[in-house]
Amino acid sequence: MTSVVEFPKQSSNSSSSSSLPSAYQGGKDGISINANFDSGNILIENVDQQSNVIIANLRLRSEPFTEGTDKRCHAQWFYFRSSQIKDRTIHYRIVNAGESSYPTGWKNYKTCASYDRENWFRIQKTDYDETKGVLEWKHSSAQDTVWFAYFAPYTYERHQQLIANSAMSPLCSLRVLGLTLDLHPIDYLIVGEGPKKIWVNARVHPGESMAEWFMEGLIGALLDETNEAGQLLRQQATIHMVPNMNPDGTVRGHLRTNAAGANLNREWCSTGEYKAPSLERSPEVFHVLNQVKLVGCDAYVDVHGDEEIEANFFADCAGCPNWSPRLKNLFDQFSDAYCEVSKDFQRGKGYGSDEPGKANLAIVRKYSIFLYINGHSL
Ligand SMILES: [Zn+2]
Repeated sequence: MTSVVEFPKQSSNSSSSSSLPSAYQGGKDGISINANFDSGNILIENVDQQSNVIIANLRLRSEPFTEGTDKRCHAQWFYFRSSQIKDRTIHYRIVNAGESSYPTGWKNYKTCASYDRENWFRIQKTDYDETKGVLEWKHSSAQDTVWFAYFAPYTYERHQQLIANSAMSPLCSLRVLGLTLDLHPIDYLIVGEGPKKIWVNARVHPGESMAEWFMEGLIGALLDETNEAGQLLRQQATIHMVPNMNPDGTVRGHLRTNAAGANLNREWCSTGEYKAPSLERSPEVFHVLNQVKLVGCDAYVDVHGDEEIEANFFADCAGCPNWSPRLKNLFDQFSDAYCEVSKDFQRGKGYGSDEPGKANLAIVRKYSIFLYINGHSL
């Protein structure tokens, strides 16, 4: 029998935030702000409805404390709705944006908005006051309700649909590798019959919703029988995919951690401060890593988004014990090939390379190369 491990759903860097509500109801005809849904995150400090322009002072809800390299409570992702606002102008202010995980990411940032949760647009007049640490925008709504988010959300409900669509395909098989701390299934898709073993996982950081949008595109291409590239890949490789490594963080509206506050991109091996991965703090990594060791691995792609770098790029595995001229050459060829087929891809901006022997192997892309050198015998 499995029991639920309880972790505080709301915690904060400052005690003043922890007691704030995630909903505001301003009377019968007043503005209604709410974040109590799948992937929602916002706290309401106060709402001033006295003047023509309603002012809503909001706060990012922080995640549980993260040990190890992070040593902080993360916050950056937000997703909430605002209702009873048609023809009204609201001034939204996220007053603790300066205390977020990547405050420099707010520079030139434009809030995402949607009236139907399918089509998302940017609020061009989003401003970040670096001195006050406040992210703000004014919005005059054409509809009664609008949703705002850090980026177009990929909710857990949409993940369910992705799994349903995939499981219905004769080209795909679905397995559940285990359970998360919130008892969500760790979904694992297998496509293709070729000899090469390719792993693709996404969203160890749940606030990087673009990573699962990427997976939806990849899975769609692989399961489209008329897609020639997908067909070729299925013949040459078996593709093992975990489209959402962090369902708990997704549901809870986290940027970077799971239900226990673990950064799943620092859990792929023990680095001294704590044992990793473990069923107690990182069952997602524990179960996926066991399966990688069982199946073997010829290539590993770990899909992320980035808060600060406005570009699409690959990050290399330099600094790992077995990084070699041959692997660097393969990496360069892969990157160049990607640039050729996608105008959105580039090699100029990125993370740079670690010095020899300096890579942190608790990071998935660094650890995956370690699996490769050990072949399929692990
Ligand atoms: Zn990430």
